[in-house]
Amino acid sequence: MQKLTIVIPAYNEQEVLKDTVPRLWSIEREVVTQNFLSEDSDILIVDDGSSDNTWSIIESFHKQHSKIRGLRFSRNFGHQAALIAGLTEAIKTTNMTITIDADLQDDPEKIMEMVQAYSAGADIVYGVRTHRETDSWFKRTTAQGYYKLLRLLGVQMVPNHADFRLMSKRAVQTLLTYPERNMFIRGLIPKLGFQTAKVYYKRTPRLAGESKYPLKKMLAFAWDGITSLTIAP
Ligand code: UDP
Ligand code: MG
Repeated sequence: MQKLTIVIPAYNEQEVLKDTVPRLWSIEREVVTQNFLSEDSDILIVDDGSSDNTWSIIESFHKQHSKIRGLRFSRNFGHQAALIAGLTEAIKTTNMTITIDADLQDDPEKIMEMVQAYSAGADIVYGVRTHRETDSWFKRTTAQGYYKLLRLLGVQMVPNHADFRLMSKRAVQTLLTYPERNMFIRGLIPKLGFQTAKVYYKRTPRLAGESKYPLKKMLAFAWDGITSLTIAP
């Protein structure tokens, strides 16, 4: 039987985890039943060096359900590092992973469709936003300009896709063969090959709390995107 692991990066997410985790847990149970997945399907939350109660919330969920697990970083390493750590751990025991942000801006109801696309043969299923109305004008324009620049530099990406995605075991294993340290995962995925599919969704505002991506982190991330994917500059 196929096992699914939902991987959630979390940095100071005490405001949202109490809602996010039960919601994802119940969606996962439904997906398991309807798609005949393994009852061992689980959730892995990566605490990226939070300074709030994120870790104690993860611990209390784990006490209720052993299938809700956590990894804890020694300090804040960033979103991409948290995803890679989660995938590295999950892939030891699972057949497919779905990464999703803790604030549920990406529609968790689409997990069902992602798993169906996997069952139909896709190794990678991209979550694609239909519009960015919930982003500020500044974020929308800078993001569009940035992706245009990457395209000019020869980097291929799936438009309007970030880190909400399903990957099969072999797709994750292939991703993990990249020796990159400053990861820009969404730029690497299209290089992996395999059969892909897309599910479309509307991105909603953050459930609660504030963005964990201040301008400084965003710029560092954008820089990693360029330096890790092209030598053109
Ligand atoms: N995140 C993380 N480490 C960081 C910053 C963010 O693990 O240093 C996580 C965060 O908890 C969330 C996801 O990455 O699950 C995306 O962050 P956020 O929603 O704040 O970004 P935005 O949607 O505002 O771009
Ligand atoms: Mg967000």
